[in-house]
Amino acid sequence: MMAFKRLSTSLNIVRTQAGPSTSNRRQLATSSLTIPSLNATFPYRWLRDSCQCPECVHPTTFQKLHRTTDIPSNLSPNTDGVRITQDGVHVEWTSGHQSFYPSEFLARYASPAALAAFHRDTARVPWDRRRFVHSGRPSIGYEELQMAHKLKEAIEQLAQYGLMIVEGVPNIETSDERCEARMLAKRLGELRWTFYGEAWDVKNVVNSRNIAYTNLYLGLHMDLQYFEHPPRYQVLHCLRNRVKGGASLFVDALHAANIMRERYPADFDILASTPVPFHYVNDGHHLHYSHPTIQLTDLPDRTSGRREIAYVNYSPPFQAPLPPSTPPEFYAALERFAAELDAPGVTFEYTLKETDAVVFDNRRVLHARTAFEDAADAGGEEKNGPNRWLKGCYFEADMMMDHGRVLKEKAEKGEL
Ligand SMILES: [Zn+2]
Repeated sequence: MMAFKRLSTSLNIVRTQAGPSTSNRRQLATSSLTIPSLNATFPYRWLRDSCQCPECVHPTTFQKLHRTTDIPSNLSPNTDGVRITQDGVHVEWTSGHQSFYPSEFLARYASPAALAAFHRDTARVPWDRRRFVHSGRPSIGYEELQMAHKLKEAIEQLAQYGLMIVEGVPNIETSDERCEARMLAKRLGELRWTFYGEAWDVKNVVNSRNIAYTNLYLGLHMDLQYFEHPPRYQVLHCLRNRVKGGASLFVDALHAANIMRERYPADFDILASTPVPFHYVNDGHHLHYSHPTIQLTDLPDRTSGRREIAYVNYSPPFQAPLPPSTPPEFYAALERFAAELDAPGVTFEYTLKETDAVVFDNRRVLHARTAFEDAADAGGEEKNGPNRWLKGCYFEADMMMDHGRVLKEKAEKGEL
């Protein structure tokens, strides 16, 4: 916010007169307000539509009280209706309506970067193993999350890297209703219910319907790709680990997708445009959905001008048969992508100890698990329960980002 304050003192407004160039420019000049100190031009229509007065924005609910379409296209200020003060810009419109735009408000909307700074949005940091290990907070103590400034760091870590180990998560309570995995998820965000329940078990059991519940190697994948909206963040809490092996592997698919974009742009385009079907047809359920392997944002980024990578959708164990019409180039592109995911140095490996939990971005970071066998005697489950038992749950990003923005703003004001 310091940058905005500096700008506000030198705010200087110019009502541009019609220039000699194209009619478009002439129209812009007579229908907008240019503020050279902000290097920004605000159309009158935008200004009137964005008026923040109590008649235009409800003073307590902050809901907008008119529609954009209610603003006439030819609206303009009165002659000498624009007045600059120390604090901002006053506009008296031909309709008689009076608006005031604080300098900070105009500075916020002067550029996509300024608006992103206002929203305290965090850029994702693609990583390989080395970069992740040296990231801000690869691991954190569970009790630390009770402290607001540590919670802020944890949220920042998950937004930037999409992966964090949480240590010392009590494993006494094992019920779905009161388990600590749930508490952890709720500390960070908002639980996402799925047909597996709000919390669920990954236990070593025999004859499982799901490959995750057996002791075989489980390759890199993402969960619930057969949903239209797969869950964003996943918590896995280790309640019991009495086995040999069973290490967790994590790979940043965003890093691999970035490499594809840089080095193999044609393959990247194929992966971003070829639908891959996923399904779960089992156990009284029938789910299916198709996603591109690399999912781009719907709209171009306002700064880069291109569609950015929104998500990666990669989950070989849950893939349905590809459409027979899938072009041969797709197979070659997917092969290159898989090679990047398997490249040396990209995998972060971690064996969850009892009371460890891991939190990761299921739309970005792939997870896998190596095979394992009983540590004590190779004779299956212990007398008093499974020998490997993880409790899992999902939570969505919105409320985590909400907490993160509020905490960052407090930190900036010295209130944390
Ligand atoms: Zn107003």
